[in-house]
Amino acid sequence: MIELLEMCGFKHDEAEAESVRVKKAFTKLGITAEDIERAKQRLTEYYDMELQGVREIWGLYLRQMVNLVLAREEGKTKIIYTFMVGAFDIIGSACTSKSKEVYMVFPSELAQLVLGCMFDKLVPVFEAAEGKWLKAGAVSHCGNVKILVGLLTLGLIPKPDLIVTSGWLCETAPKTIDLLSRLYELPTCCYDTCQDRQFKNNYLDETRRVTALSVKSLKKAIERVQEIVGFEITDEMLWEEFARDERRNLRTTVAKLDELNEVSDPLPISATHTAIVASLRKLLPDRALPSPVDAANTLYGELQERVSKGLGVLEAGAPRVFGLQPVSYADPRLEDLIGKMGIALVASEGPFFSPDGTHIPPVKPKDPYEAICVDLNSTLFQSLAERTRTIIETCKKLRVDGVLGRLHVPCRSGTGDGPIIKDAITRELGLPFLLLEHENFDPRIYKHVELERRLGLFKTMLEAG
Ligand code: SF4
Repeated sequence: MIELLEMCGFKHDEAEAESVRVKKAFTKLGITAEDIERAKQRLTEYYDMELQGVREIWGLYLRQMVNLVLAREEGKTKIIYTFMVGAFDIIGSACTSKSKEVYMVFPSELAQLVLGCMFDKLVPVFEAAEGKWLKAGAVSHCGNVKILVGLLTLGLIPKPDLIVTSGWLCETAPKTIDLLSRLYELPTCCYDTCQDRQFKNNYLDETRRVTALSVKSLKKAIERVQEIVGFEITDEMLWEEFARDERRNLRTTVAKLDELNEVSDPLPISATHTAIVASLRKLLPDRALPSPVDAANTLYGELQERVSKGLGVLEAGAPRVFGLQPVSYADPRLEDLIGKMGIALVASEGPFFSPDGTHIPPVKPKDPYEAICVDLNSTLFQSLAERTRTIIETCKKLRVDGVLGRLHVPCRSGTGDGPIIKDAITRELGLPFLLLEHENFDPRIYKHVELERRLGLFKTMLEAG
């Protein structure tokens, strides 16, 4: 175990000091000595562990996972989980800065990274959820919700005092949270809006209305959060969080890391790292943990050095593609295979994604809740017309040779758009587009031979273009 911790950037003394807590958390998670060996192999196989920044980033997630598992017994009396919400880290951070008793985290994503990518231990979590009401097979439910349900069913993470979700992207998340509330008597709340924008003349008015509805609903949800944490969450507290240097620096560095991958040839780091870098944005500043800004800056410096020497993980001139929908946060194998096939996945859609690094249309919020809801303007939360337009502009800007349409099939909001976006890209840009239907969270669905064959054909089309 000490070796794994050192691999993840722990200093030897710190690894020794933390080993009791880590062992306790690993025991609760069912992580055995064999699992630790497998984690070391997986980290070496799928990630650039010779980069100090990558090691430190993994150390941050490992520490966060231990903190989550031990939260209740280590004195957190107000535990709030978030699920499929926009920039809720602002609210979480405002609360945890004010009270040490409060703990707020997005447990599904953390488990995807640590139990999924690092340990390959998600299958029992899926099976536990499927033993309840979430189905596998042809009419499969989304793996993202299964992970949350499975973690709670198996008791791997403490029962929370509140779960907050939103209907911004789907109805699956609120319905699942509602069932958790009814079956397990877990307090829950949800905020929502009405996504009825079209990219026509009155698009700006419609966007204002969509945002205003969400702000109203979010403020109602915050009343529930205030009841749990026991204090008022003031606008000043939220603005302070927005202004916090560490948060701004983190977002800036993560954006610079994204840009380095977008513009460099050869690609400086494998697309398997996209998830671990993107997820840094959701880490709440926590003085008890090493700084995510330092880890991100270390990685940025190391990659800049690679770029300046003309080094990378693929041959220079490898075909460049943009990925529809986010990369997997639970299983690095597809992104790893894409790289091994000699295809440079230079960027992917994500919750914060917009073509020029800002949100469209430009919004100058007067209310901190408007600022939180500005993510409604990033592509995944957008109307189909605006999402398509943004993706087309991005493909032009990045000068990609093709588009990889990874479609997480159980997610109706994203998947239904896929064939329409494909038609638009083919018509307007004439780029090869591979529509790849899969499950973005469930490692049991990964079909290596079939993926290799389809990516091979795609690469031929990219090179012919
Ligand atoms: S169905 Fe889509 S939006 Fe809903 S929880 Fe799953 S991944 Fe998220």
